[in-house]
Amino acid sequence: MSKTLTATMRAVAVTPKQPGSARQVELPVPTATRDTAVMRVLEVGIDGTDTEINSGLYGEAPPGFDFLVIGHEALSVVEAVGEDVSGFIPGDLVVSTVRRPDDCTNCRAGESDMCLFGQYTERGIKGAHGYMGEYYGETPAFMVKIPPDLRPFAVLLEPLSIVEKVTYQAWKIQERMLWEPKRAVVLGAGSIGILGTILLRLRGLEVHVYAKSPADTLQGRILTSLGASYQGVADHPVTGIKDELGQIDFILEATGSSEVAFQAMAQLGTNGVLCLTGVSAGNRSIEIPADVINLQMVLGNRLAFGSVNANRRYFEMGVQHFQQAERQWPGLFERLITRRVPFDDFMSALDRRPEDIKTLLTIAAE
Ligand code: BGC
Ligand code: ZN
Repeated sequence: MSKTLTATMRAVAVTPKQPGSARQVELPVPTATRDTAVMRVLEVGIDGTDTEINSGLYGEAPPGFDFLVIGHEALSVVEAVGEDVSGFIPGDLVVSTVRRPDDCTNCRAGESDMCLFGQYTERGIKGAHGYMGEYYGETPAFMVKIPPDLRPFAVLLEPLSIVEKVTYQAWKIQERMLWEPKRAVVLGAGSIGILGTILLRLRGLEVHVYAKSPADTLQGRILTSLGASYQGVADHPVTGIKDELGQIDFILEATGSSEVAFQAMAQLGTNGVLCLTGVSAGNRSIEIPADVINLQMVLGNRLAFGSVNANRRYFEMGVQHFQQAERQWPGLFERLITRRVPFDDFMSALDRRPEDIKTLLTIAAE
């Protein structure tokens, strides 16, 4: 019997654009080259992007492959480092960023999240294999070291980095004026909505969350424990929020619905800022009160901006905020992990349930 010399590993992959194609694949275990490290994956978080890729909405295989290993939220441990790698040693905990640069000026400046050319790749999403396998290789520029005390929930760093960018940029943009925000609205109580609420509460804002799920859910209880209010949109439609609350300084749209995004524009208060984070993969048209929205945007100096992805600066901010928020609300982040699924049940992990906040696929115990 012949024996292969290359060690192989298991991973979860899809055939991009083919609905429901998630399956287990075997790939060679990567080896550390001079300037790369090899990570052993502990656990991978699942989000709407993974589910949408598995529904065939988008996703792109790396050159030379007809499948894409998915997963872009991974906590891993360094297994081996090449001789030129400094700053990391085997045993270090790592979360790697998602996007890899092209050669536009923004990418070359370390801000591939603001890429101009669109030729970037995204691990697990667009043109590069992701992290939902036993090992992956990476260069230190994209690896973020995780302090050991963050081990129980550091897998949330990638989604946290998304709202780190959103809030950082909103406050930066609002330096256009004297801005003293007091009241924020968060639309959606998925992990982005909840993580966004945490950052807004750390900034001292009054936060009101509106979402589909009823108030008596884990989402509702977590938000209430943060001192945020939580309302179901069944009794409190988005179109009535400003009449209910008064001046709204900041809105985070985290439902992914383009309709809600436009409804939110009409709810913004004077000098307010709306941030859109939803990747709406569809092709829907809606009717909007265009005159009213336009007039309000102009007369109230209102602003709406979109934000995608996050570069390592925002991952590093997330590490700081993990520590700060855990001091204020001990055990908070672990409560967001509502399901841990063993590798063999990856199909069940990809199927999102209303009560899920964050589902993890467990790849290795330690
Ligand atoms: C990821 C981002 C990515 C975006 C668009 C999100 O789920 O968190 O890193 O840029 O999808 O592909
Ligand atoms: Zn670029």
